[in-house]
Amino acid sequence: MVLDTSAFLAGYDPFSVNESQVTVPSVEEELRTNSITWVRFKTAAENGKIKIKTPTEECWKKAKASANMVGDSFFLSETDTQLLALALEFKAEGFNPQIVTDDYSIQNVATQMGIEFASLATFGIRRLLEWMRYCPACHTEYPADYGSTMCTVCGTELKRKPRRTAKT
Ligand SMILES: [Zn+2]
Repeated sequence: MVLDTSAFLAGYDPFSVNESQVTVPSVEEELRTNSITWVRFKTAAENGKIKIKTPTEECWKKAKASANMVGDSFFLSETDTQLLALALEFKAEGFNPQIVTDDYSIQNVATQMGIEFASLATFGIRRLLEWMRYCPACHTEYPADYGSTMCTVCGTELKRKPRRTAKT
């Protein structure tokens, strides 16, 4: 299981799943802003329930190329690309990785790369996560699908954070 940030924020419980679970360092970074989720994530990581791994550069390049091919690279964050790269790496090692995500762009690129995914509903989670982008330097906020990855005010690269979780 390759886990994205939204899975954790939506209430995914690593202890409820027996399969090996893995994520990338930037997911850990994105979760730091959310205290309850952060505690659960940290506990799971310390118990070895979740492994945190950086994908190889080779796999990262392949994931990026696949995202460009399906035209979704623009909507993928660096974290998303790394998760896809990590899944690719495990597949190359003979595993059968599954990305846990509700993000359509990740799902599209995963399909392109022949990698399986599972939506959060599979785990009984029915909350949708809304992202927003923001500038870490001048704090200007942008919509998640904003047409640039740079802040128009000061030129800093934008980061993302959850707006709030909406129950469906
Ligand atoms: Zn700015």
